[in-house]
Parts: sequence; structure tokens; C-alpha cells
Amino acid sequence: MQNLDREIICHECKTSHTTVPDEDESDAPVHCAECGAFMCLWGDVVTSNELAMKKA
Ligand SMILES: [Zn+2]
Repeated sequence: MQNLDREIICHECKTSHTTVPDEDESDAPVHCAECGAFMCLWGDVVTSNELAMKKA
């Protein structure tokens, strides 16, 4: 699991997630742990997280 500096909000059940499963593929889909709905792509998570932490 990867900790995020920001929350990802599931549009289906409105659950906010601050951790997501670690994926190898940048185009791997990230799904809501509560309802299983697609939320975003792993690559989007990594990019946003790196920008947030200013490590890029
Ligand atoms: Zn959900």
C-alpha cells in the first residue's frame, strides 16, 4: 500500500481514500476498496503524489 498526501474520493460511494494498492503498471486502474468502482489510473496517483511531495 502507498500512502497518499491527498485523498482520492470515490465518485460512487463518496469514500475518501488515503492509501491505494501499489501497482507496477502506470496504466493500472485503481478501484475503490469499498464499492469497487474505478477511481483513477495508478499513473495519475503516482504523478500527483510526487508533485505533492515535491520529489519529482
Ligand atoms: Zn466507492
